[in-house]
Amino acid sequence: MSQNDKLTPAEIAQLRPDTRLVQGGILRSPFGETSEALFLTQGYVYDTAEQAEARFKGEDPGFIYTRYSNPTASMFETRLALLEGAEVARATASGMAAVTAALLCQLKTGDHVVAARALFGSCRYVIEELLPRFGIAATLVDGTDIAAWQAAVRPQTKVFFLESPTNPTLELIDIAAVAQVAKAAGALLVVDNVFATPMLQSPLALGADIVVYSATKHIDGQGRCLAGVILCSEKFLADHLQVFLRQTGPSVSPFNAWVMLKGLETLPLRVERSQASAAALADRFAGLPGIGKVIYPYRADHPQYELAKRQMRGGGTLVTFEIAGGKAGAFRFLNELKVVRISNNLGDAKSLITHPATTTHQRFTPEARAEMGISDGMVRLSVGLEHVDDLTDDVTRALKAV
Ligand SMILES: *Cc1c(COP(=O)(O)O)cnc(C)c1O
Repeated sequence: MSQNDKLTPAEIAQLRPDTRLVQGGILRSPFGETSEALFLTQGYVYDTAEQAEARFKGEDPGFIYTRYSNPTASMFETRLALLEGAEVARATASGMAAVTAALLCQLKTGDHVVAARALFGSCRYVIEELLPRFGIAATLVDGTDIAAWQAAVRPQTKVFFLESPTNPTLELIDIAAVAQVAKAAGALLVVDNVFATPMLQSPLALGADIVVYSATKHIDGQGRCLAGVILCSEKFLADHLQVFLRQTGPSVSPFNAWVMLKGLETLPLRVERSQASAAALADRFAGLPGIGKVIYPYRADHPQYELAKRQMRGGGTLVTFEIAGGKAGAFRFLNELKVVRISNNLGDAKSLITHPATTTHQRFTPEARAEMGISDGMVRLSVGLEHVDDLTDDVTRALKAV
């Protein structure tokens, strides 16, 4: 087993991101395979008892058990860490396993967490319902209000948590500003970077301490497997994460890690294409009869356009817009679409559309949804890889039918 046999890690670090996503992290077996191997194995054999002893002591760097680490998972982790500019990455079975582990590994009874209110539903469950069961208090704030983060800080505050852009209203949170408040409070900032993808936003460079992904979304990008990733410093790994992952076992399946690893090779191409289509569609939708507000971070009418330009390298692959006629209008529109399919998922090669008020945000009261800016006519479109003109035709035809 060897690292990428021609390029040293130092040389790989000098390569441009697209190249690192193809060449980075390769562990080539003695067979010299071109494509990264899928190591479907639970365990590893040792040449001698002495070698087994050394490996358990941490003096021999090989593998011990796939719950701890696996060569295919390691290739995926190294490659994503190279892209993100993180010291280390650890893959998990799902995005939620990554979020839960990133929080629980470092928190204990008596600690306090501050989180933005606009969170992926399951993340809100972890913060609002799971952590308090273990005596970990949480305060939810309007993430766009920097003074609110500051005001929520207590002596026991250990973690700040946010996602940006948020789901489904594509509101942005100023990551650099929140990171400053976190730093002053002695808390670590954890950013869920799923909506921006690693191509378009680098939270670590903006001052965040830990980045988490649902690799299920754009990293797979073809709607096949679940996985998650935590990116952090060597120190955080050693102090908190490593032992937590090893002993509690939210490990990624080697097969899923392999799918994600190969997904990274095409991530720049896919995100670039989906994003170009999303930006074009946002412009085409604005002003169409039957469509109300159009929300897209890189449109000049987005309330946080300046922040989007500063913090993101593009507007992303999602467009949110309002259909006239509330829920009934939105349902008629969704049901008329033929190329774009109805699904709560996102980040797929296939364009997917969801009606947040009756699906992902169903459990909130109408008042809570209104406070989050989610109207009954609002739909969220995850733009895939189809030709942008076919997507435009599908939407225009469905609007006419409505
Ligand atoms: C999908 C998603 C998650 C959860 O990821 P899974 O892989 O489904 O567990 C967390 N955060 C955000 C923003 C997501 O979109």
